[in-house]
Amino acid sequence: MKKEWIEMKKINIGWNFDNSYIHLPEKFYSKQGPTPVSSPELVILNKSLSKSLGLDIDILQNSGIGILAGNEVPEGTTPIAQAYAGHQFGHFTMLGDGRALLLGEQITSDGRRFDIQLKGAGRTPYSRGGDGRAALGPMLREYIISEALHYLNIPTTRSLAVITTGQRVIRERALPGAILTRVASSHIRVGTFQYAAAYGSMKDVQLLAEYTLQRHFPDIAFHEKRFTLLLREVIKKQAQLIAKWQLVGFIHGVMNTDNMTISGESIDFGPCAFMDAYYPGTVFSSIDTAGRYAYGNQPQIAAWNLARFAETLLPLLHENEDKALNIANEEISNFKTIYAYHWLNGMRAKLGFFNEEEEDESIVTELLNIMEKYKADYTNTFRNLTLGKLEGMDIFSTAEFLDWKEKWDIRRKKENKSKEESNQLMRENNPAIIPRNHRVEEALEAAEKGNFSIMEKLLDVLDHPYEYSPQQEEFSMLPPASACSYRTFCGT
Ligand code: AMP
Ligand code: MG
Repeated sequence: MKKEWIEMKKINIGWNFDNSYIHLPEKFYSKQGPTPVSSPELVILNKSLSKSLGLDIDILQNSGIGILAGNEVPEGTTPIAQAYAGHQFGHFTMLGDGRALLLGEQITSDGRRFDIQLKGAGRTPYSRGGDGRAALGPMLREYIISEALHYLNIPTTRSLAVITTGQRVIRERALPGAILTRVASSHIRVGTFQYAAAYGSMKDVQLLAEYTLQRHFPDIAFHEKRFTLLLREVIKKQAQLIAKWQLVGFIHGVMNTDNMTISGESIDFGPCAFMDAYYPGTVFSSIDTAGRYAYGNQPQIAAWNLARFAETLLPLLHENEDKALNIANEEISNFKTIYAYHWLNGMRAKLGFFNEEEEDESIVTELLNIMEKYKADYTNTFRNLTLGKLEGMDIFSTAEFLDWKEKWDIRRKKENKSKEESNQLMRENNPAIIPRNHRVEEALEAAEKGNFSIMEKLLDVLDHPYEYSPQQEEFSMLPPASACSYRTFCGT
């Protein structure tokens, strides 16, 4: 294709790429172009996200598909695969983008910067034995879940588009191949720092830390204690993120250190799923046999991952090793308190409390215990409390619940705000719907057969989880008993 033509298309679509990451030392990435695919077809395009990135939807879904498929590389980009390492289920390994390519960073007209990554775009130097490709089901799953989290007001990478490649990928069986375009405020992971520390020099860690500071934390980027502050800010962001996951019953499923961002966005939605009945030991992932990443373990796993992050920064925290260790330990020890603060405040909002009262924590814990005992659905218990519809669930007729409700009523009277305001607070914090596992599966199964309408309908309702609209009713229903032993699989 002629250069002028590509240039014209770039202007028309609205791509405005920069590539700041390639100014890091070369060991942080490998230059790698995507491998073209035979017959790309657009399955889904995120129109509102396209708009907010400044992209022209019409052109993007016609002549722009070549870029989303990796068949063309837009002007101004130097595609790279990023290097990173990570603790996978506790074991340290060298990883890197084995099937993803960073096209570059889209700069929006208001100056925001977003990584544009093609996931499933072909082999890279980090592919090891893998084929560099992705299957349609897992890419659509990532699309659905990341968009659902976004509309639940949870920081997350987002999904711009999914295309099918026209080629099959071989997993347990042959599956339609696909590429997801992922949008992230960056792809810097705890594992990126681990890679720098394990395979580079202290200088490399420092360069990565300075880059991260300037990109994500410009206000502290030139502070004398900026590396300690970096650690502190990442701990804060992660504590807030995990509290938000817990509050909606989201189980990531594979919280390896390479799947934890420095930006505080949720990333990599392989075996994730939302909890139905409240039970802290809930695990969906077929590979998580020991329950390492169970719902109730997520906060402590996050703290463990952050400790791995802190380790990589030690030489930058203080020249004296013992002092550096003390600084790191002190920062990490704050995770628990920050997490607990956000979690309890979130729970207060879910129960309609504006004030802070001493008994709040015990009121919350007592309700959760009753939910656990009666295997009550987590989302719907709060949904029904919000609607004041205390029927249709076994839990509401138990003596324990009635006793608890009395305490809740008394507690609500301590508020200075009106009952209406308190109800409104509950509506804003208890989703009427979540992407129920059986609904997601139903959408993916149909999509694999070429029917995308079920997925589109699901995405439509997930866009407004706090709306409590009549068409959401059917999506709040529980799965049939047969789906209760739900299992998820890594999308590789
Ligand atoms: P994930 O489970 O998606 O977080 O991936 C873990 C690691 O495996 C990352 O380094 C991926 O790039 C790599 N990987 C996953 N699937 C493939 C594949 N099909 N081909 C090559 N590398 C892969
Ligand atoms: Mg990953």
